[in-house]
Amino acid sequence: MNDDCLFCRIAQRRLPAEIVAEDDDVLAFKDVNPQAPTHLLVIPKSHIARLSDLTPETARVVGQTVLMANRLAQQSGIAEPGYRLVMNCGPQAGQSVWHLHLHLLGGRPMKWPPG
Ligand code: AMP
Repeated sequence: MNDDCLFCRIAQRRLPAEIVAEDDDVLAFKDVNPQAPTHLLVIPKSHIARLSDLTPETARVVGQTVLMANRLAQQSGIAEPGYRLVMNCGPQAGQSVWHLHLHLLGGRPMKWPPG
């Protein structure tokens, strides 16, 4: 937990968010500035600033975020047409919130490469 971290504060219910799912280790909520008809963020409840901070001890949580995202994709009806999972690491990749998060995007056709 990091008191200055936006997503830690959401995980602690100290800031509002449209939470759609959680378990002991991860939390999912709607992105406030959606880039697709379905745009959810899945975060570990523990504070990890960025993907490159993962260690062998903490790496398991990435699998947990993916499993949660896959389940939410099924529930949202985007699993069959397809969806995109994105983790931005660092400023040049577009990371703007320094708490590890997985974007679940779907509900429209997407281009590749993303630009
Ligand atoms: P990234 O650019 O990969 O760090 O993604 C951060 C995401 O967090 C962006 O898509 C933002 O729209 C989203 N975001 C920022 N603040 C909030 C918030 N308070 N509630 C929900 N999503 C947020």
